[in-house]
Amino acid sequence: MLCEMCGKEVPRLVKCDIEGTMLNCCQDCAKFGNRITPSHSGDSPGYQAAQPKGHVEKALERRKQRQTPRDIYEKMGPRELVDDYGERVRKARVSRGMTPEDLGRAINERKSIINQVESYTMHPDEKLVKKLERELNISLMEEGDYSAPKSSGNASKGMTLGDLIKYEDSKKG
Ligand SMILES: [Zn+2]
Repeated sequence: MLCEMCGKEVPRLVKCDIEGTMLNCCQDCAKFGNRITPSHSGDSPGYQAAQPKGHVEKALERRKQRQTPRDIYEKMGPRELVDDYGERVRKARVSRGMTPEDLGRAINERKSIINQVESYTMHPDEKLVKKLERELNISLMEEGDYSAPKSSGNASKGMTLGDLIKYEDSKKG
């Protein structure tokens, strides 16, 4: 291979930018210009080749993949007991012709527990909610949704005046 700069015969040429001109040079001539990329053959398209993905970029991609499952759970939000859980239990039970005792027996709870849940005197825990949902084929939980206030009356509760103006502005769109 011949150096395009000095014409010397060398085993290996180096692609260089010498004053704006791309040349395949020997190692000695390369010192005079900006070495672009090591070239094993004179016609290597190394100069135009796409850059491989950087180390940082790869690391970020890996981190994104690792975080995805947790992010999905966070987006689902906490499930909350519906406000009318007692009503839902009572209606579903009555529509099946069950007494509180029947329902209690079906889910292995005392009759008084059913009565307390239906009269809202007891807040059923997650385990009891699941049993009631399964037995009565109803849903007692709702996904926490922070974008929609449960009732309009609560919307401005606890808001500062600035928040309220922002809230009103957001409603205008
Ligand atoms: Zn040379």
